[in-house]
Amino acid sequence: MTFSDFNLDTSLTEGLLSMGFTKPTPIQEQAIPIILSGKDLIACAQTGTGKTAAYLLPVLHHIAQNNDGKINTLIIAPTRELALQIDQQIEAIGYFANVSSIAVYGGGDGMAWEQQKRALKGGTNIVIATPGRLISMLAAGDIKLQALKHLILDEADRMLDMGFNEDILRIISYLPKQRQTLLFSATMPPKIRALAQKILLSPLEVNIAISKPAEGILQQAYLTYDTQKIDLMKYILKNADFSSVIIFCSTKEKVKALDRELHRAGLSVEAFHSDLEQAKREEIMLKFKNKQVRILIGTDILSRGIDVEGISLVVNFDAPPDPEDYIHRIGRTARAETTGTAITFINELDQRKFSSIESLIGKEVPKIALPEFLGNGPEYKPFVRHAAPHKPNNFKRNKFPQKRNPGSNKNG
Ligand code: AMP
Repeated sequence: MTFSDFNLDTSLTEGLLSMGFTKPTPIQEQAIPIILSGKDLIACAQTGTGKTAAYLLPVLHHIAQNNDGKINTLIIAPTRELALQIDQQIEAIGYFANVSSIAVYGGGDGMAWEQQKRALKGGTNIVIATPGRLISMLAAGDIKLQALKHLILDEADRMLDMGFNEDILRIISYLPKQRQTLLFSATMPPKIRALAQKILLSPLEVNIAISKPAEGILQQAYLTYDTQKIDLMKYILKNADFSSVIIFCSTKEKVKALDRELHRAGLSVEAFHSDLEQAKREEIMLKFKNKQVRILIGTDILSRGIDVEGISLVVNFDAPPDPEDYIHRIGRTARAETTGTAITFINELDQRKFSSIESLIGKEVPKIALPEFLGNGPEYKPFVRHAAPHKPNNFKRNKFPQKRNPGSNKNG
């Protein structure tokens, strides 16, 4: 499925292109047609699934096609940070659609309050608000929602956990009864069901369950500079008894370079990438399945679909691009109740990415100390912006290109 299947307003297609979104995520595939049809929706989806664009695209489409300058959509979010993030996504996706939005939240000084009020008076298509501030504005008559067509509750479970149940019901008492209501929540406890029953009309439901890694997988990580990765890889392969190993790299160039190094070290290894003929790929896969080859190196094209029994170790030579990929990759081991090990190498630039993986899987992955001969790796500081990649003192070689190239073919 592609975005063009939704027949969205062309201005949005341009917005998607500029953001580099090429393919809808599963929540987008399921939710967008329902929202476009005008039905109410309950969607169970966590942050990271693309849920925000799932509800923004249909709403932006309606506004782009019929912009009357009035407030068309109200999005209620639990925190100022989320409200601002949503506002930024509207700005990015709706850039060519001439759609305006305002984030309204508490916690600012009097100036912010006045600015928000002024901006609202000037007219806007979408308001994104935290519950407390919105109630104050509604009560003071600073915001008029009579023309509202869509109400969206984002992270509804979190809003209820924060005690906003009554506030939400009060806000809804100001809204027209004829409207489309969409409720997005990461979890569906009974209190969410009860809220949904009060405020939605015959809703359809979509559920994007994120599979968690199997319990049998031992997950570990090493904090390494790129320059340390090859020697660390050789060390692990030579010192531990892993009979069948898959190694994931971010690009096919890295796959080929690592393949050369491991061959040189006398290891039984094959590289699997898109430059190989189909027949060659099948031959490699068969040899790996039959245990004639111990180590298979590839890009993410290896992570989905291949069903090889008895893989004892999965290595993320480069941290996976997103949490879902992590789960798919490490799911290659510990299949069918067996046990397996998954090791991730995290360089300084991938630390933030890895921390979002940890939040999705709901646990911290132990960071193992590097073997002494490699020297120190980077410290784990996922929320610090890292400068250019760094070389440890005792390393002079630079086997892999250091520059991150967002345009590189990660699936190649
Ligand atoms: P969300 O779950 O809405 O917090 O989105 C998670 C991240 O995925 C955000 O950084 C979005 O910009 C990004 N995203 C959303 N939809 C897509 C898509 N179809 N393709 C690529 N990235 C996306």
